Amino acid sequence: MAGLFDKMLTTALVTDVRTWQPATMFEVDIHLPTIDMEKWDTIKRLKCRVGELEYRDYTPALWNPVKKVCTLFIEAGHNGAGSRWIQQLKKGDEIALGAAHAAQLPSKEGKILCLGDGSALGHFLGLKQLTDRAKFPMEGAVFLHDQYEVPRSIRENHPEFEFIIQPHSDSFETLLQWCGQKDISQYSSVYIAGNIPMVSGLRKKLKSMPEVKAKVAGHGFWS
Ligand SMILES: Cc1cc2nc3c(=O)[nH]c(=O)nc-3n(C[C@H](O)[C@H](O)[C@H](O)COP(=O)(O)OP(=O)(O)OC[C@H]3O[C@@H](n4cnc5c(N)ncnc54)[C@H](O)[C@@H]3O)c2cc1C
Repeated sequence: MAGLFDKMLTTALVTDVRTWQPATMFEVDIHLPTIDMEKWDTIKRLKCRVGELEYRDYTPALWNPVKKVCTLFIEAGHNGAGSRWIQQLKKGDEIALGAAHAAQLPSKEGKILCLGDGSALGHFLGLKQLTDRAKFPMEGAVFLHDQYEVPRSIRENHPEFEFIIQPHSDSFETLLQWCGQKDISQYSSVYIAGNIPMVSGLRKKLKSMPEVKAKVAGHGFWS
């Protein structure tokens, strides 16, 4: 079965690996010559082979369809097959992956709110690249459980995202509190992604609030 699945994968070349400080968030650039990124009209996932019979999904966050390169943002501070794979990845490595659909774009125009953790940063940046700011103004909060120095390029190029760095706090409680400072009725769509209990908890909470007019989409990644 895995052999059959492996045959459906394509090869990509790692062209750069950068780390944040502390070095548990990885920015990985890959060249994907066989995939037509011009056709991407929903948020994607790249199912990567991370070991023998082991696959993990990572989100193309930024991409250039002409150069056929994309960037992934991967949290790898924990002990897992994907995490160990990322930690040893280097420029020049060939990796095996398949691209698939992960999430739809908003069905109605209007403000988008993004709520998630570091594993969801790519998901939100992918959504940003696929939508027009004039029709879909965007803002969001990304909860980080490591004491990161968020790179200046990320803060400058993506000012719509607020990074909440609170190593000892709970992501659900922290993001819920952050929402409390916002007029939650103004959004047309809410995207919640990352840790599964956080995603389901926030989605349930927002959907129970009468003032929330938005379509609330949840995408759980890990637990
Ligand atoms: C559609 C989709 C898109 C995804 N996109 C991304 C992405 O762009 N970037 C990304 O980093 N991940 C992304 N993920 C999550 C990713 O696929 C893995 O599930 C995740 O990285 C954990 O895999 P692992 O093998 O490292 O750890 P696992 O073996 O799954 O877990 C080992 C342990 O680590 C803990 N753990 C797992 N992830 C984290 C984390 N982020 N922080 C703290 N502890 C953790 C688990 O609770 C568990 O105790 C995505 C998942 C999906 C379904």
